[in-house]
Amino acid sequence: MIVARDYKSFIEARSKLNGSVGFVPTMGALHEGHLSLIKKSISQNSATVVSVFVNPTQFLAGEDLNKYPRPESADIKICELAKVDILYMPTIEQMYNSDELKISAPKIRGYILEGANRPGHFDGVLQVVMKLLNIVKPTNAYFGKKDVQQLILIEQMVKDYFIDTNIVACDIVREPDGLAMSSRNIYLNPNQRIRALSISKALKRGVKMVQSGIYDTNQIKDTIKDLIEPEVDSIEYIAITDRRLKEINSIKLDDTIILIAVKIGSTRLIDNIWI
Ligand code: AMP
Repeated sequence: MIVARDYKSFIEARSKLNGSVGFVPTMGALHEGHLSLIKKSISQNSATVVSVFVNPTQFLAGEDLNKYPRPESADIKICELAKVDILYMPTIEQMYNSDELKISAPKIRGYILEGANRPGHFDGVLQVVMKLLNIVKPTNAYFGKKDVQQLILIEQMVKDYFIDTNIVACDIVREPDGLAMSSRNIYLNPNQRIRALSISKALKRGVKMVQSGIYDTNQIKDTIKDLIEPEVDSIEYIAITDRRLKEINSIKLDDTIILIAVKIGSTRLIDNIWI
């Protein structure tokens, strides 16, 4: 595996790859969720590129940019063992200039849900993903449904800007007890971690309600709220939308997502389930 820390050495290593190239962009602190994307890429492409870059422009003032976990040598080892071809770990200076051209998230879908709670977050996400796709020029790029709004906005960006990469959506990987894997889970103390289980349990309850014939989304949201409210410190949103992120009043089978964002202590957790 080649570890490239600057644009020039990345381009040199990239020029030696033949056939289809799969790409998994990450912010590091790699876990089984990231690894499932990497494995999928390896199984579907001739070569796989992973990037680790904690992107400053997608963090708002006061968010966890400085304390975001950066276990660099563990990340390198994980990629090596997984048989990644190139690991790209650029510095901020390699990725950004001062006074540069900006990408704006769409005014509606970029400013609801995560975007309402973190205004400007998706401008930064799209900006860095655009840069990375242009650098790596992958055949396929792999994104987790864990960050479903990010996935949907990246699909839109690739379409709107005629980027020649196929976006592959990957299922959420969970701990055996149901907690969606996240680099931020390490912030949770043991008690908070137990309380965090209420999120996936509530999502499962939502699915059970649909299976029992309840399609009224307000009723489902109320039940979810009752389940998670006593366990979390604040609820940022509980939403039921279609696959284009439009709120719906009645469940549409194979076209529904239930999304939750909460805070436990100072840790922000998101999760969702597709119905
Ligand atoms: P991050 O390092 O948090 O920016 O995540 C990098 C990629 O991994 C994104 O496409 C995420 O959606 C994806 N990802 C993170 N956690 C999970 C998970 N538990 N299951 C599946 N994909 C995930």
